[in-house]
Amino acid sequence: MLKFALAGNPNCGKTTLFNGLTGSTAHVGNWPGVTVDKREGVYKKCEEPIAVVDLPGIYSLSPYTQEEVIARNYILDEKPDCVINIIDATNLERNLYLTTQIMEIDVPVVLALNMMDAVEKRGDKIDSKELEKRLGLPVVKISALKGEGLDKLMSVAYEASKVERKGRTVLDETALKHLVSDLTIALSGQGVENPVFHAVKLAELDDLEVLMHKDTVSMVDAFKKSNLDETFGDDFEALVADGRYKYITKYFSPTLKRKNKEKFVVTPSDKADKVLTHKIWGLPIFLVILFAIFHLTFSENLFFLGGLLPEGYVTLEGTVFEGVFGEGGINSPGVSLMNLMGLLTDTISGLVSGWLSSAAPWVSGLICDGILGGIFAVLGFLPQILVLFLFFSILEDSGYMARIAFILDRALRKFGLSGRAFLPMIMGFGCSVPAMINTRTLADEKEKLATIRVIPFFSCGAKLPILTAVAGVIVSKGNLTAGYADVITYSMYLVGILTALISVILMRKTTQRGETPPFIMELPAYHAPQFKNLMVLLWEKAKHFVQKAFTIILASTIVVWVASHFSFTWQYLDEEQMSQSILAGLSGLIQPLFTPLGFGSQLSTHGWVFALAAITGLIAKENVVATLGSLAVGLSFSGIDGLFISTQISTPALLAFIAFNMTTIPCFAAVSAAKGEMPDKKKFKWTLVFWIATSFIVSSSIYLIGTWWWTTFIYVAVFVLACLLIKVVNKRREKEA
Ligand code: GDP
Ligand code: MG
Repeated sequence: MLKFALAGNPNCGKTTLFNGLTGSTAHVGNWPGVTVDKREGVYKKCEEPIAVVDLPGIYSLSPYTQEEVIARNYILDEKPDCVINIIDATNLERNLYLTTQIMEIDVPVVLALNMMDAVEKRGDKIDSKELEKRLGLPVVKISALKGEGLDKLMSVAYEASKVERKGRTVLDETALKHLVSDLTIALSGQGVENPVFHAVKLAELDDLEVLMHKDTVSMVDAFKKSNLDETFGDDFEALVADGRYKYITKYFSPTLKRKNKEKFVVTPSDKADKVLTHKIWGLPIFLVILFAIFHLTFSENLFFLGGLLPEGYVTLEGTVFEGVFGEGGINSPGVSLMNLMGLLTDTISGLVSGWLSSAAPWVSGLICDGILGGIFAVLGFLPQILVLFLFFSILEDSGYMARIAFILDRALRKFGLSGRAFLPMIMGFGCSVPAMINTRTLADEKEKLATIRVIPFFSCGAKLPILTAVAGVIVSKGNLTAGYADVITYSMYLVGILTALISVILMRKTTQRGETPPFIMELPAYHAPQFKNLMVLLWEKAKHFVQKAFTIILASTIVVWVASHFSFTWQYLDEEQMSQSILAGLSGLIQPLFTPLGFGSQLSTHGWVFALAAITGLIAKENVVATLGSLAVGLSFSGIDGLFISTQISTPALLAFIAFNMTTIPCFAAVSAAKGEMPDKKKFKWTLVFWIATSFIVSSSIYLIGTWWWTTFIYVAVFVLACLLIKVVNKRREKEA
């Protein structure tokens, strides 16, 4: 099969193009490094199927970052039939820098001028025919986002792939001309492939190259000696870069006609950034936006009005709509959808238990309580997960989340935290696994380690049911008026973020000290997300969630149900006897561990369910709620609320329970991902210790402070002392060094 590689700068739209060509749904992020590894798909609309490879985003082919090494080796070693070089046409000159390097390789290259929609919106014009002539490469205008010009691009690339192409360099115009051509001849003589590319890299004394062609280094040295006193210095790398830029400005820039001649035009996007990334207001605005999202997803009192409609007007009272859209106040879209889902699952449960009414008690128990109770407890939250995701995706796709990384970088850089590391953390809101893999783009090993450790604190989709379910219990048990579920879920997300930030800072000041690399990134203008892309994303999310519900979670609930309805002597136990079951016995053993967190020995009869749920959550976080759901039905409580209230658990303990599940060892998949990213097994073991310790510290402090407010002083004092101690120790280290 023919193989085409997509290469380009970070954030130029490679993944969007890749998805458009292959129909796949790879994560499109508005930040670099989202595509860390290469990814393959198939384009089927040409004469023959073509394998398309999405390479990580790079600014050059020098081996400075892992992405650059991956992309460079792929093009050189795997020899794709064509390289499609994607250019963010709104930043034409800067993007062409990479092009001048790719064209040095002996491979067919086609230029895709992407984001033409944005260029046209600005009123700028690019003469692609002229550019094509000057580059000596085919140029096609496209908009990956709108899906325009993709088939044209592929047919041009297909034609190009049939013709052999020799590498060419723009350095022929510079003082390095002779060195490069001599080296090219020498390398060709040795039968080296891609002689032009290697010659230029040798002239730069690129590390990888020097290792590969030791014998030619002497030529470079000789050249340096004989030319050193002339106008150029000995930093050949800088000379090469300078040569490329000069060439671009002289020959390629004239093909771009700007509508506004002045260099800096204030676009609407810039105006928005003035407010959204404001030095002082940027962060508060983010927190408000985040709250609005939680309000729309979780609130049962959307307009803060309380009662539904004034007396005498249309009322939903007594109708089925009342339960869906609100009793005490108008429900948010998230809650309304959840209620609709509840109606559906209740109906199914009712039908099934009707059919099974004459079956053996353990059969109907297993199916109705164990399986349906568990799975429905989780599926019930799917609508809210999707609503929350929709909002997060809009924030991400519009370009806003990338700006948050800048805001945080500005605020926290002095504490050893870079904006670069926030990008994978923000991805953690979706799922920890890809987020952890994304940390590969962090150059500093210690920063990478610290980042992986805190990614699970950015509460992922699977943890959301825990938050919602427990928040629901707090609202229904307390004297709070309905409508606080949004405040609780929002605060718990913030607790997670805060825990992450504090722990990274502490690590960077103690065990993971290191340089904080600069954070540079192209920020594309804000743009409205494409409806289709959002829907595809939600569909994927829903599919993944449902698949998980009917595999891992189904299996776990069956095991939990059986082990909680049979005794150690394998006798079937009914609801009243469940506390003598295998699981109750085992969970009872670890229950005391949770006493400082409020859900341990102090709870009455069914207190062991919390210990059990926390453990099953290690397999998949959805299991926490699934386990509670299936036991609640088994114990004949009306839902999880009833079960919780019967244990007499306090509100601070419920909050501690959420915090514990959010900060402790993540699910099995995330643990494996973390292990894969940590070649050093000792560091991995310490990571597990870190997770356990953090979860106990965070949740016990929530429980203790919530129960006895004055313990706040103890926590604050200990924290301040610890910070001072770290400061003193670091000062002393600095002096010694
Ligand atoms: P990658 O880093 O090169 O893989 O880039 P992505 O595919 O992740 O895209 C980066 C950002 O550019 C996303 O916000 C895309 O929505 C946006 N983008 C991609 N193609 C276009 C386009 O043709 N027009 C516009 N206006 N935006 C685009
Ligand atoms: Mg990408």
